[in-house]
Amino acid sequence: MLLDAHAASMRGRRYLIDCRRPLPRNPLDSPAIYEAGKALFSVTSLQSATHATGNLFLDNLPENALNVLRPALVHVSLKHGQLIYERNARVESVLFPLGAILSIVLDMSDGATAEVGIIGREGMSGLGVALGLSTNKQRALVQVPDGAYAIPVEDFRAALECEPELKSFALRYGQAVLTSTSLLSACNSLHPINERCARWLLMAHDRVADDLLLLTQDFLSQMLGVRRGGVTLAASALQEAGFISYSRGHINIRNRAGLESASCECYGSLECDWESIMGYSMRKDAVPFKAPELGALRPDGSSEQS
Ligand SMILES: [Zn+2]
Repeated sequence: MLLDAHAASMRGRRYLIDCRRPLPRNPLDSPAIYEAGKALFSVTSLQSATHATGNLFLDNLPENALNVLRPALVHVSLKHGQLIYERNARVESVLFPLGAILSIVLDMSDGATAEVGIIGREGMSGLGVALGLSTNKQRALVQVPDGAYAIPVEDFRAALECEPELKSFALRYGQAVLTSTSLLSACNSLHPINERCARWLLMAHDRVADDLLLLTQDFLSQMLGVRRGGVTLAASALQEAGFISYSRGHINIRNRAGLESASCECYGSLECDWESIMGYSMRKDAVPFKAPELGALRPDGSSEQS
């Protein structure tokens, strides 16, 4: 039903990505879409076929699949606390984080909230789009500010229809997210807070470019689903062991190997499962961060390498 409605909505509309016509050179070829996205997008587009994007989902796509997306990808800067999408709201764009971390949050009727997942450079927002949905069932906001690539949702849908390898890769990503979510659910009910705290810090560390995490204790308690006092004790124990230093919302990873030894088995299991499903690691020591090389748009819409 949803797919039928989507097919009907696609008829007669002109998108950046359209299987029936040659790919345009850049987003300005479709002024309506580009103008609609300007509030979110900065004017930097991904034009080069030879440089890594910095997002591991994009960088591990088959080349033809990335080339289908490439003309419509633009670089955006995400701010701390920025709302990416609201529960049950229409998806407007799909994001591929670079050094940013998005937090997926569930809100309860009594006002309590809990984080149920994070999305960083290993993946993308808007997985539901690949599954044929138009709205999100959770809320997403920016926990760690940095850059991302964005694509209007109509272009992403069109690319999925154009390129079967993109669709199968996105579905594999869905399986990887489902596997991770299941494991984290078991972890949260079985393992001690200290070990879960170490596991969460490792997951966050893999997704940011440096060793500094800007996280409050309130945020960490939300991540781990425990009271703030429990997070304080866990962070203090990790600090006393010399694995992290912590002060006023700043967590510095001092000894990553030590932090791994303090984590429950779930960090390793998550990594192992992820790599076996997606075919790539998200570990910082396996895939170091590097600045993506972007093509900058000139006012006439043509591109040049920055
Ligand atoms: Zn665990």
